[in-house]
Amino acid sequence: MSSNPSGVFDPFNHAQFKTNFRKNDYPVLVLNADYMPLSYFPLSLWSWQDAIKAVYLQRVVVLSTYDEYVHSPNMEMRIPSVISLKEYVKQDRSLAFTRFNLFLRDGFSCVYCGSKKDLTFDHVIPRSMGGKTNWENIVTACSKCNAKKGGRTPEQANMPIPYRPQRPSLYAIQETGRRFPPNYLHETWLDWLYWDIELDE
Ligand SMILES: [Zn+2]
Repeated sequence: MSSNPSGVFDPFNHAQFKTNFRKNDYPVLVLNADYMPLSYFPLSLWSWQDAIKAVYLQRVVVLSTYDEYVHSPNMEMRIPSVISLKEYVKQDRSLAFTRFNLFLRDGFSCVYCGSKKDLTFDHVIPRSMGGKTNWENIVTACSKCNAKKGGRTPEQANMPIPYRPQRPSLYAIQETGRRFPPNYLHETWLDWLYWDIELDE
């Protein structure tokens, strides 16, 4: 199992995947100046305290609010639920070769059997045959398939891969990321996210 450098990985417990925010934390969705979320995964959220600081520093525009208020001796203000930055933040558009992004590319499922359990990484061409660790040669595999394939190529193991692994475009990964919304979505966020989200929460 030398092709699994970092152990079994459970995407559904991964810190990058879900945010820790809950409803009663009043997380604030942060949009760039073009009204796109700064990021989808994890979703760009700030604490309401940070959001209110930014409002006072006039760095953000409040687009939507919670029903609840914060009070201080000389002011009262609704807690923002969606804000946008006044100044556009240029985003790094290159996609990092990370474990998370690789799983995301493969939809968090084994490329050989489709299983979503006990996910590991498989070198398509084994390292012992000179296989590299990059987008083109690493795929998501369940630990069963990883063990079954062993130190063989997909042809040798008779385990074909349904597509040629490659670096996904940022657009493709963004689209996949939208299929994995975080655990909590406030209704005022929905205009800014996920066209296809179910609205019956
Ligand atoms: Zn499998």
